[in-house]
Amino acid sequence: MIGQTPILILKEGTRREKGKGAQFSNISAARAIADSVRSTLGPRGMDKMLVDSMGDVVITNDGVTILKEIDVEHPAAKMLVEVAKTQDEECGDGTTTAVILAGELLKKAEALIEQNVHPTVISGGYRMAAQKAREVLDDLAINVTPSDRETLKDIARTSMISKSVAASRNLLADVAVNAVTAVAEKNSDGKWEVDDDNIQVVKKQGGSMDDTHMIAGIIVDKEAVHPAMPKKVENAKIALVDSALEVKKTEIDAKIEITDPSQLQAFLAEEENMLKKMVEKVKSSGANVLFCQKGIDDLAQHYLGKEKIYSVRRVKKSDMEKLAKATGANLVTKLDDLTADDLGTACLVEEKKIADDKMTFVTDCKNPKAVSILIRGGTEHVIDEIDRSLNDAISVVSVAFEDGKLVTGGGSTAIELALKLRDYAASIGGREQIAIDAFASAMEVVPTALSENAGLDPIDVLIELRQAHKAGKKYAGINVFTGKVTDMKKERVLEPIRVGRQALSSATDAAVMILRIDDVIASKGGGGGKGPKGPDMGDEGGMD
Ligand code: ADP
Ligand code: MG
Repeated sequence: MIGQTPILILKEGTRREKGKGAQFSNISAARAIADSVRSTLGPRGMDKMLVDSMGDVVITNDGVTILKEIDVEHPAAKMLVEVAKTQDEECGDGTTTAVILAGELLKKAEALIEQNVHPTVISGGYRMAAQKAREVLDDLAINVTPSDRETLKDIARTSMISKSVAASRNLLADVAVNAVTAVAEKNSDGKWEVDDDNIQVVKKQGGSMDDTHMIAGIIVDKEAVHPAMPKKVENAKIALVDSALEVKKTEIDAKIEITDPSQLQAFLAEEENMLKKMVEKVKSSGANVLFCQKGIDDLAQHYLGKEKIYSVRRVKKSDMEKLAKATGANLVTKLDDLTADDLGTACLVEEKKIADDKMTFVTDCKNPKAVSILIRGGTEHVIDEIDRSLNDAISVVSVAFEDGKLVTGGGSTAIELALKLRDYAASIGGREQIAIDAFASAMEVVPTALSENAGLDPIDVLIELRQAHKAGKKYAGINVFTGKVTDMKKERVLEPIRVGRQALSSATDAAVMILRIDDVIASKGGGGGKGPKGPDMGDEGGMD
């Protein structure tokens, strides 16, 4: 028996690439991704218009948005898309930087591989360099305190300068700093924590960008259920109820046989009575505002209206949670359990008409640990870009709030890192020195891309920057508007340290991971899904 059939490890015709071929194809795929976002970096970066198969258009220069929207096929390219996503999740900004840094690390590695430096040596050197870079970054850090609003605003402004909303960035920076300051809490170790889930963003088309503002409270995109209810409740006592104000229908189909008219009367009266009792329960708790996560029966609406209780039904669970945070109310699951202690408070609950929709504003809460931002703007695309920009601004301010540390932008930190890493490389010597040197040069892609996008000569800028840093000007960066090398600390181009730290580590991780691959084999798994055998092998999962 043995030896009759030849041993086949791979099925005939399996796609496979090995050795340098695999490495170069991975590197070029990843570099293609990096090149696709490079022109968007910085204040003078361009936007991309993404058009999907349905004709929907997104206009943005946000790295992660672009990469999420484009259809990426190559596995190594997908890794760079992951870099952008991680960067976005961890700090909300610096996505383009992280991706082009990874691309540049791979480009430099490619040149080394061509000179027969082994990928393992390159990876080792890159890891050492990244470690050193983190130390240098910590040395460069500038402290910021939560009460330093102006500096926090500078950070927000820096994150928004490259967006098309730049004209309104003073206003948006103010909104972001106010929102973060309102929801920030000190944890038990005395450290600041910001959960940006507590900042609700509501988008409404219409008005102008400058009408965007923060509300110390919550906006619920719903109106009061009955016209008899007040449009405005001052000194609101707010009940949050999770159960329906309806008479329960039976789970199984039941038939009620009614034989004479008085029975029908009694039946309806009983139903009415139950609804009335529910409304009385709300009233007896002292509530004058009710947010119900489920439905409210027509009749109950009528009684609530009579009692002048402002009521909203079918409120989203996430909104209920934010309302609880903002007003201090308890979410009550059973209406019968509702008491005065469960009520939250707000100075004002009001129905307002924004554009064509009526919305409920719960404002001036005592100690709002959840706030809202209402975004206005002429078109949907504008509103979406404001949303993305505010998101970046809120993230960077939150991160700065939590860490209390900043670095300077405009390529200044990158050049300082490059300088320090070159010294470090020289002190290491050996083969790793080459890799650390390559890493140092890769850092320079940041000022290079910033200058290219501003129409400046990147070589001239690099030479000037290097000179300035050698002379000890560690904050010298490129002012892309004047084309001059200036002090970025004085120019207030500031970024949270976490953005740089995360960009360094995710770019290094991705580059090292891609470099270590020397064999790409088409595997079965569910990802392909094209062959006739698709369904029965679908369990393994695809690339992501
Ligand atoms: P990312 O997705 O990486 O955040 P951006 O398009 O937001 O990309 O660009 C960020 C880069 O722009 C950073 O390197 C930052 O230092 C730089 N930058 C921001 N403001 C200025 C400025 N006024 N002058 C020069 N560079 C700036
Ligand atoms: Mg940015």
